[in-house]
Amino acid sequence: MMRQVSIIGAGVLGVSIAFWLSDLTDSEVTILDRESEPAKHSTSRNTGVVHRPFFLPPEAKATVESWIKSYDLWRELAMKKGLKFEVNGQLEVAKNDAEISVLRKHQEWARLNGMRDDEIAYLEGNDLRRLLPESLAEGALMSVNEANVNYGELVEELFREISGSVKFVGGFKAESVSERGGKVVVGGLLGGSRYEIESDLVINAAGNGSLSIYRRMKGTGEPGEIHVKARYWRLEGSCSLPRINVFTVPKYEKFPFLDPHYIVRVDGTFDLGPTVSLSYDGFDYDSGSMEVIMRLILHSSLGDLKGYLSLLKSGMLSLLLRDGLRMFSSEHMRRFFSWVMPWIKRCELVAKPPGIMHYLLNEQGIDQQVRIEEVGQTLHVLNYDAPGATGAPYFSYYIVRLLLDRGYLSPGKGLRYELWRTLPGS
Ligand SMILES: Cc1cc2nc3c(=O)[nH]c(=O)nc-3n(C[C@H](O)[C@H](O)[C@H](O)COP(=O)(O)OP(=O)(O)OC[C@H]3O[C@@H](n4cnc5c(N)ncnc54)[C@H](O)[C@@H]3O)c2cc1C
Repeated sequence: MMRQVSIIGAGVLGVSIAFWLSDLTDSEVTILDRESEPAKHSTSRNTGVVHRPFFLPPEAKATVESWIKSYDLWRELAMKKGLKFEVNGQLEVAKNDAEISVLRKHQEWARLNGMRDDEIAYLEGNDLRRLLPESLAEGALMSVNEANVNYGELVEELFREISGSVKFVGGFKAESVSERGGKVVVGGLLGGSRYEIESDLVINAAGNGSLSIYRRMKGTGEPGEIHVKARYWRLEGSCSLPRINVFTVPKYEKFPFLDPHYIVRVDGTFDLGPTVSLSYDGFDYDSGSMEVIMRLILHSSLGDLKGYLSLLKSGMLSLLLRDGLRMFSSEHMRRFFSWVMPWIKRCELVAKPPGIMHYLLNEQGIDQQVRIEEVGQTLHVLNYDAPGATGAPYFSYYIVRLLLDRGYLSPGKGLRYELWRTLPGS
């Protein structure tokens, strides 16, 4: 039976879910977004790496699977739409024996996670210096298949692909989700006026906005959440820059993206970052630190305050503060990274627009799992961070299969698109 499905959020996750819904199920799909066009937030504000899972522990099965299975789907989309998918590879560099043993562990994880032996190699310091002259690193893992892309452009193309069969309501800021007469009603603001959209099923894929929609529907201030603003810096000037992504062995293994890293961009530029600061919400890119702190004190929910307390107890905040200025100041970040690429001291750093990450908080501090919460006829995808843009094509397929398997939706009459045929057939 044909069902009406509304998706809140036209980022990489929402648009990929819409693709699979209209391809595999008998449903009429509408995407709602607060912006007038898709992919205006994290999807276009990230570093554009299609990751390989060598630094993920094999226990993170869902993320590993979605990274492995999505890789070829991104490549296929880029090829078909004439967009760049540059296989530049990635180095993870170590400066001492303790860090080299982490590299050895990551090499083993790569194997356990299904990467081929010829995708990853250990380089001794001298071999590494052919790629990074003057580097003080003692060894590195080289993963050859990391790709650099522009996720924003890829998602815009995916959106164009489905635009004939999926409806888009832009400029609609969803504020509430409730149930009435067997239907789910999304209420919100459209052009300054209140507006309601009725459907049989709602999928909340609103990224940085998803938790507040969930909390309002449940009538709770929990769980707590923290928003971290991450800024990257474009490297300019007369300094030669290699065409391979470079990460250091992460100081905090569970947060491999906090340590400064170097990224090749497909527009021909090179980035170093991130420097981080707190953000009041998922869309506040501009406020200064004092304003953010005041707003956090005045407006945080009880769940947020409990979460901040468990962050303090977990020691995470003090660890970050102890790490000091390299997390917060671009100059100190550059100095920190210069043992890896000494010539980077000669580059100029130009600030880029930041992105915002959101993390749910639990008793242990930061919750690292994606959470799929069913509330009546609404599926909320919360804490969607780890599979990230890399894993979205497969993770969204997994969600649509889940809806089919549970009988919320029925299968469509036939596959609609030429794209991404390898998954439904497999
Ligand atoms: C700085 C940074 C670097 C990153 N680097 C990488 C990387 O190199 N590789 C990688 O794989 N991942 C990376 N990520 C993670 C990746 O970008 C995200 O996981 C991914 O973009 C999340 O997609 P999304 O669709 O959930 O969110 P978004 O892209 O933010 O989309 C959410 C959508 O929901 C809409 N929305 C929100 N609230 C509402 C509302 N109330 N009503 C209506 N619409 C709403 C927004 O307008 C937006 O369009 C990075 C993230 C950041 C911040």
